[in-house]
Amino acid sequence: MKVGRPLLMIPGPVICDPEVLSALSKPTLSHVSPKFIEIFSKTLEGLKKIFLTEKGEIFVVAGSGTLAMEMAIVNICEPGDNILILSNGYFGERFKEICERYNLKVDYVEVKEWGENIQPETVREKMQKKEYKAVTLTHVDTSTSVSAKVKEIGEIVKDTDTVFIVDGVCATAGEEERMDKWNIDILFTASQKALGVPPGLAIIAFSTKALETYEKRKEPVKSYFMDIGLWKPIMDAYAEGQAAYFATPPVNMIYALYESVKQILEEGIEERFKRHQTIAKAFREALKALELQIVPISEEYAANTVTGVYYPEGVTDEEFRKNMAKNGVIVAGGLGKLKGKIFRVGHMGTVQPTDILATIAAIENSLMKCGYKIKLGVGLEAAQEILTKI
Ligand code: PMP
Repeated sequence: MKVGRPLLMIPGPVICDPEVLSALSKPTLSHVSPKFIEIFSKTLEGLKKIFLTEKGEIFVVAGSGTLAMEMAIVNICEPGDNILILSNGYFGERFKEICERYNLKVDYVEVKEWGENIQPETVREKMQKKEYKAVTLTHVDTSTSVSAKVKEIGEIVKDTDTVFIVDGVCATAGEEERMDKWNIDILFTASQKALGVPPGLAIIAFSTKALETYEKRKEPVKSYFMDIGLWKPIMDAYAEGQAAYFATPPVNMIYALYESVKQILEEGIEERFKRHQTIAKAFREALKALELQIVPISEEYAANTVTGVYYPEGVTDEEFRKNMAKNGVIVAGGLGKLKGKIFRVGHMGTVQPTDILATIAAIENSLMKCGYKIKLGVGLEAAQEILTKI
């Protein structure tokens, strides 16, 4: 049977709320019209509440998460600057590749095995030995589903001149994350993850310290489109209810973002963090009951937006995911060195308890078809134990 409405449970893009999707089809307004200015202004204001920042300046730019990564780097660093990259997986590696393109002096610290977590002590030792222009950290490395120790590492970076750059692409608006309280200087995400909007927007926040570091640059930013000095007057103008032009904003995408921001604030960011925690916990309990192993080596490291799960002996990626699709649930395979060894389930944005239960049911069914011996329903029962407590 052709599955007409698959349940998209990959770690982005995620399922979007119908109101968010219908916002995309509203008539496109002039980007300098009063109505659009109002929408953009309220969106920027709302995003500050989601990023949990008071003074941080938000930039919304057409693009994806990778653009935001590169924007963070090019605006802060100049050729020859020292940068410390903390990597828990595939997206930490991407930071390294970006920095090498810009001829930065990269100190790359990676975990020995994917599933481990960079420890704050390592960062302290590195920072005692050398002065870095910036430190980068991926909050949730989507490849391993490990949630980094952002708060603890922020404490180490805070009283230095080093800019703390955090990739929140698989975290912001889902995983607990507090820009101001955790001393994050640059925090970014992309629309298609926990913000619950289709792909197309990079959203990036600069703290006062990050903006001051930008101001002290010796040379202009080599990229024209990514230069936040050119974007800042535009974002300032919209925030103050005026229009300004640098590059045409993606008007309809911003309608969709506005709709989602409204919904997120209606739910409340703290409630949203809790919902993500409960659903992720229910999923992990189901996996335990099914005797499946997650990628994070300790449950303490497990993210609440995505979970990577090792295939048990004898189950192949191709057969498993084909069965999942037949069951109407789309999950992701592994990235980089975990390709073929794991599957990943995204549970962020508008995710509901029933979505995770349907996913667990499909996992049980698919595992059985792949020859894995389980008692049907044990995963569902374990998840229900958690979900009935809320
Ligand atoms: N960082 C992380 C943690 C991600 O998960 C992703 C995308 N999966 C990116 C960066 C890159 O984002 P994009 O694919 O939107 O360019």
